[in-house]
Amino acid sequence: MVKRESFNGAMTAGRRKWDEIRAELVERQASDVAWQEGRLQGLNHFAGQDVFNVAMKAYELYASTNPVSARAFPSVGTLQDDLLSSSISLLGGSEETQGTVTSGGTESIFLALKSARDIAQITRKISVPEIIMPSTAHPAFDKHASYLGIRVVRVPVGPNYRADVEQMKGQINSQTIMLVGSAPCYPYGLFDPIEELASIALEADLLMHVDACVGGFQAPFVRKLGYPVPDFDMSVAGVTSLSADLHKYGFALKGVSVVLFKDAALKKASTFSFDNWPRGRYQTDTFSGTRSGGPVAAAWAVMRYLGEEGYLEVSKTLMGLRDQAREIIEDNSNFRIIGTPELSLMAFTVENGDLGNL
Ligand SMILES: *Cc1c(COP(=O)(O)O)cnc(C)c1O
Repeated sequence: MVKRESFNGAMTAGRRKWDEIRAELVERQASDVAWQEGRLQGLNHFAGQDVFNVAMKAYELYASTNPVSARAFPSVGTLQDDLLSSSISLLGGSEETQGTVTSGGTESIFLALKSARDIAQITRKISVPEIIMPSTAHPAFDKHASYLGIRVVRVPVGPNYRADVEQMKGQINSQTIMLVGSAPCYPYGLFDPIEELASIALEADLLMHVDACVGGFQAPFVRKLGYPVPDFDMSVAGVTSLSADLHKYGFALKGVSVVLFKDAALKKASTFSFDNWPRGRYQTDTFSGTRSGGPVAAAWAVMRYLGEEGYLEVSKTLMGLRDQAREIIEDNSNFRIIGTPELSLMAFTVENGDLGNL
């Protein structure tokens, strides 16, 4: 049982000094994973103390701003606009492409699904829309599908652990509104065949979402370094939306991602507008209402602090480490790398026996 502390209990000791409060906060972190020593690659993305410090300083400056009101805080609005235009150009967008800065991949995916559902309701009068995706797609899709009344069809991946395009095609029916592919998927770090999926979507007049949450801000740099990376972004014919997390390989602090839409109509369907209450029009592009502008400022500052040169350098380091780890794993006959990962994220499996006995 967790010992409950009453609000009063926290107060009766009288005012405490910051040093003492800080010490207690640090003490409570004692059994957290040592992520700054590289122990948590999948959940924390660290490009060095200097980058982290820049992010923290920028966060501090904007911690109390609130992106919910661009009228009160035009500064955050301009930072968001910059993040979007940089993301659009990095990820193959066009003049038509629009986007929204969100609090994370989960929220970016929510907005893509809401847009798809609303567009389908308007144009096709579908009551229970369906999306088709590979078994490796992120649970955020199922989470939001449950909120939005969308049915999810998960199709097992093929023998190469990537989306099985033919099987997915076979699931298309009159209720289908969207196909989903990952670039790459989180469990294995493998790209689904985005071009093939998008061409099927285009042919069947369906929407196509690319989940580049983990890879969106690494793949373009890894490709520039000379590693083979398949086409996956907004420039691929048939791709109608894409999510990419700045708080992953963009090296911002937690709480910032982007979702891009092929055109203004798709973006509009993702937003919310209301004026039936005494305080006038309430309009938001995001799921969340009040949030901090801190993560937005951190992302903006880190992008400028690193620049393309910095992102290339970090990508080179990460890919070098991946190649080293891969060699060690491949040299051990007990282990097998799953598929051929494109980026620094990879997974391996135990080939002979039980991990506990090795
Ligand atoms: C991280 C991730 C998400 C979810 O993003 P959050 O930032 O955790 O909300 C979705 N898809 C993929 C592929 C991811 O790696």
